[in-house]
Amino acid sequence: MAKIVVKFGGTSVGSVEKIISVAKILKKKFLKGDKIIAVVSAMAGKTNELIKHSEQISKNFNKRELDVLLASGEQVTSALLAGALNNLGIKSKSFMGWQIPILTSGEHNNSRIINMNIDKVNNFLTNKGIAIIPGFQGISEQGDITTIGRGGSDATAVAIAKIFKTDFCEIYTDVEGVYSTDPRYFPKAKKINKISYEEMLEMSSLGAKVMQSSAVQTAMIYDLPLHVRSTFSNKEGTKIFGPESIDYNKVITGVTYSKDDAKVTLLDVQDKPGVAADIFEPLGKNSINVDMVIQNISPDGKKTDLTFTLKRNDLNKAIKLIKSNKKKVKYKSISSDKKVSKVSIVGAGMITTPGVTYKMFRSLAQEKINILAISTSEIKISVIINEKQTNKAVKKLHSVFNLD
Ligand code: ASP
Ligand code: MG
Repeated sequence: MAKIVVKFGGTSVGSVEKIISVAKILKKKFLKGDKIIAVVSAMAGKTNELIKHSEQISKNFNKRELDVLLASGEQVTSALLAGALNNLGIKSKSFMGWQIPILTSGEHNNSRIINMNIDKVNNFLTNKGIAIIPGFQGISEQGDITTIGRGGSDATAVAIAKIFKTDFCEIYTDVEGVYSTDPRYFPKAKKINKISYEEMLEMSSLGAKVMQSSAVQTAMIYDLPLHVRSTFSNKEGTKIFGPESIDYNKVITGVTYSKDDAKVTLLDVQDKPGVAADIFEPLGKNSINVDMVIQNISPDGKKTDLTFTLKRNDLNKAIKLIKSNKKKVKYKSISSDKKVSKVSIVGAGMITTPGVTYKMFRSLAQEKINILAISTSEIKISVIINEKQTNKAVKKLHSVFNLD
């Protein structure tokens, strides 16, 4: 008998029929003898719809009231799921964030879970019922309803798994797990059976969005095993846990890409201590995230070229900020390219395997793909290339590193 958290995302509870299927999944687990806490998202699209309503009133809608509004989405699915279970003859009860309570701190619309009381829910589990808890919501020390940021139901599930000391946390979603690349566009993509937290974080920050990254991070810190799987099939999903899950026979676990990058190059930047800081400080202060930075060695020690990448949305703003900083940052010219993409290979196996970098570059060259920028971490190598060549690059790397 295990004690488990089972989380269902928005598409899994996207209609009354789907909520009834979720109830059936839970009933089956319950009859096996597991103690179950189910965490639910709002119905797919609901949170966006509620935000729209608030914006119809004001773009600066009161933040406290926005949380009251948004938390209602998860309240609806919690009640429907508990009712559906009751209807199947299973004892079940919903517990709102404020009833438990799930204590949060920080600003409205973007709070953080700091603690929760386990007594009421544990009593209910001991009395043989399935507890339903809405994701995404909590209560502040002042007693106001709060929400914890978009996609926050994953974070709720992981926090509950930790604080209730459950054996593991299952994340039910609309895909069958984590894939070696995007299965929607690359039919050769393969489902990954197990993956380490670190690899999962690299994969999701690079665009393979299956779970909220901060929730994976929390799970990593507390060494909580996660299991991502589909609500709509019986297939085993992907298990995410510590380094013991790394398959060292495989050098690379996945190939990811993002198509919303841009590149900026400054030519002949004055080469003296502090210029890089002067270039990037205004960007940072304006919440612009810089991704890769490449600075050339200056042959004469006076001038250098500097290239960096960022999200395409931020490009115009970044260029404006740099141009308006002419007093501090001197350069000959600035150019940019917004038709670039980032392609990365991720795998903990590369730590122990020499030659991965060269193999990646050689295979791209064979496809006549020019590399515009490179960055590496211990378990990831990323290149910036022309956006048009993304598909070719992903296909090639997927096959060269034996993922097909
Ligand atoms: N309903 C919230 C959202 O759409 C939380 C979640 O689904 O995880 O962001
Ligand atoms: Mg969601």
